[in-house]
Amino acid sequence: MKEVWVFIEQEENKIHPVSFELLGIANTLAEDLSGRIAGVILGSEVDNLAPEVLAYGAHKVYLVEHDCLKYYRHRPYAKALSDLAKKYHPEILLLGATPLGRDLAGGVATLLETGLTADVTELSIEKETGYLLMTRPAYGGNIMATIVCPHHRPQMATVRPRIFSVPERKENPKGEIIKEKIDLSEDLAGIERLNFIPKEKTVNLEYADVVVAGGKGIGGKREFEKLKELAELLSAELGASRLAVESGWISYEHQVGQTGKTVRPKVYLAFGISGAIQHRAGMQNSDFIIAVNTDKGAPIFKIADMGILGDWKVVAEALISALKKEKD
Ligand code: FAD
Repeated sequence: MKEVWVFIEQEENKIHPVSFELLGIANTLAEDLSGRIAGVILGSEVDNLAPEVLAYGAHKVYLVEHDCLKYYRHRPYAKALSDLAKKYHPEILLLGATPLGRDLAGGVATLLETGLTADVTELSIEKETGYLLMTRPAYGGNIMATIVCPHHRPQMATVRPRIFSVPERKENPKGEIIKEKIDLSEDLAGIERLNFIPKEKTVNLEYADVVVAGGKGIGGKREFEKLKELAELLSAELGASRLAVESGWISYEHQVGQTGKTVRPKVYLAFGISGAIQHRAGMQNSDFIIAVNTDKGAPIFKIADMGILGDWKVVAEALISALKKEKD
């Protein structure tokens, strides 16, 4: 039976949420192939994670534990994952398009002599051939390219976080846990981690519950400071349109959209953003969208749950003062 594999990304015994999202889409793909889903966990003392992977829909878990896998290093991880794939021949192998997933996927695809589509935003199975259709923006986002890998297996893709939703968690899941031994050594690793210093605060747009975003209509870099104040009061992350980023008002890591990040917050506040299709591609799955714009014809109002026709600054200042009052 064909298997759809999901690489379960874990660090410090914590599973990255993109792995659960991938288990969800793997379920759809496996159904179309009449196949099964398997999660692959690599690490050291990580067997406690296997039931969690079954709870999110995997039929099977392949578990490789080794001291060399205690923290992520490219070579032991790439060897472990590719050796497993050589033994069990999965039809599809999905990884999150995270820094770790991107680093690992290229090496694994090379070792397996197969193709890899990076940073995918859509996945489906072609009915006639059973091939995995992997779609991603190409040429700077000007076209959407659908890529197939007809001659080599597994068909591999890294998938952007937040594209797919997390499936419902099952209580008392049933499934098989297969413990595998892979021959690994410190010599192979080639590098040793002496210390780990976490970055101070990083932008965590993809997994923010609330996003306060600004566009060209905000008017300048200084104006973003006001949105930052609002974001802090709401414990939100700051987002931006590409024009705001290109104007140099805010850094690229805040860009939402087709060539930026995909977000799915509970609330998305859009200030002075017109709602171009490339921006909507990154935020239209938000639970509740509030748009503030002076142009009643702005496309953002078509997808907004609440539209406020007016000047962004007036609305932002009113919200800031109300939130401050509430905090006092
Ligand atoms: P504008 O379209 O200029 O809109 C500004 C809005 O502000 C207007 O609706 C205006 O009515 C409103 N406004 C003006 N003054 C005020 C005020 N005082 N108060 C309230 N509202 C006001 N864009 C992205 O965002 N993300 C992407 O990832 C992205 N990728 C792209 C990829 C490609 C290949 C291409 C071709 C384009 C991409 N774009 C992307 C650009 C996109 O097409 C739009 O140009 C961009 O999203 C527009 O940004 P904006 O809404 O801030 O600016």
